[in-house]
Amino acid sequence: MRSPLLQLLMFLLLSLTGTAAGDLVFHLPTDNKSLYDKGGDSYFMYVDRTFEGKTTKPWEGGTWGLVRNPFRASNGNVYYSRMHEGIDVKPILRDENNEPLDDVRPIAHGQVAYTSEDPRKSNYGRYIVIAHKIKEGTVYSLYAHMASVTCQVGQRVSPQDTIGRLGYSGVGLNKTRAHCHLELCLMINADYDLIDQPPSNKHGVFNGQNLIGINVADVLRACKNGKPFSLSRYFSRQKEHYRVRVPCIGIMDFLKRYPFLYKGRRDRRPTSLEIAFTKEGVPIAIYSSKEKVDAPILVKCTPMPFLQQNCTVNRVKGSSQDATLTASGMRYVNNFLWLEGRYPVPATQPDTSSTPQ
Ligand SMILES: [Zn+2]
Repeated sequence: MRSPLLQLLMFLLLSLTGTAAGDLVFHLPTDNKSLYDKGGDSYFMYVDRTFEGKTTKPWEGGTWGLVRNPFRASNGNVYYSRMHEGIDVKPILRDENNEPLDDVRPIAHGQVAYTSEDPRKSNYGRYIVIAHKIKEGTVYSLYAHMASVTCQVGQRVSPQDTIGRLGYSGVGLNKTRAHCHLELCLMINADYDLIDQPPSNKHGVFNGQNLIGINVADVLRACKNGKPFSLSRYFSRQKEHYRVRVPCIGIMDFLKRYPFLYKGRRDRRPTSLEIAFTKEGVPIAIYSSKEKVDAPILVKCTPMPFLQQNCTVNRVKGSSQDATLTASGMRYVNNFLWLEGRYPVPATQPDTSSTPQ
């Protein structure tokens, strides 16, 4: 038995480190620290934009969310239809040839899960995925457009380590717009490599189509003073935009990984499930339902002053009264439903339309 003194010492040590098992604090990926104070154009890499005849370089296009492809709705306001699943972190060091020099570090303790070192194989260019175990499940950080990758799959890493150098590999980038595209993701399905196989899928379960980026800038800011990240607290602040009812043929792989998202009954298998999504497509809660369905159907959608495809990453279409899932939305939802080698509905080709930049 441990002595009271030893127990007290252990308690003090745990209090000092501030975290119990599974608690992780997320840190900035590079030496650019301005996210914590000025933010704006000192932290986020701009995008080149031409809209209504004007050419601009807005840094907001480097933040997370529906921040790209502006359009003016009939009410006169400007909205954005294209999703950016990560944040674009600006370099702060360049050599005499303007090559970026910033080291990239893991945003938290974890294990390297995947590296893709051939920049031609993905819109991400060279990229790295690190798995982080937190108490609510495993989340994945992703670092794209790297100039170099200096870590190996399986390696345990911490925020003090260097995993590579920031760069501009990938589609649609140049030296001036070099940045670290950083995502913090949930994984949809650990069988994604069976749903989407080579040659169309070159990255197995670490294909961007199988990873859902959450607002990593919010996560980093929330952890600024050493507070561990809580996925359930993050999700409790997100707003549902639409809800999809799906057949229940067993426990979704996604729910095995993130069981806290299940808000339905646990005493018996529900007839169907209802997945609540934000407009960006982040599933924030899964409910049980008594209604029978054979294939996914949209059952709720928040009214907007324009067509739904413009604010749902093209997963829902139509006006608020007659909104339905698009083909792309159906494929997206099907990825959650694939279970033990079968779909509850016929398999369709995965969507390959999104382009991280
Ligand atoms: Zn990006």
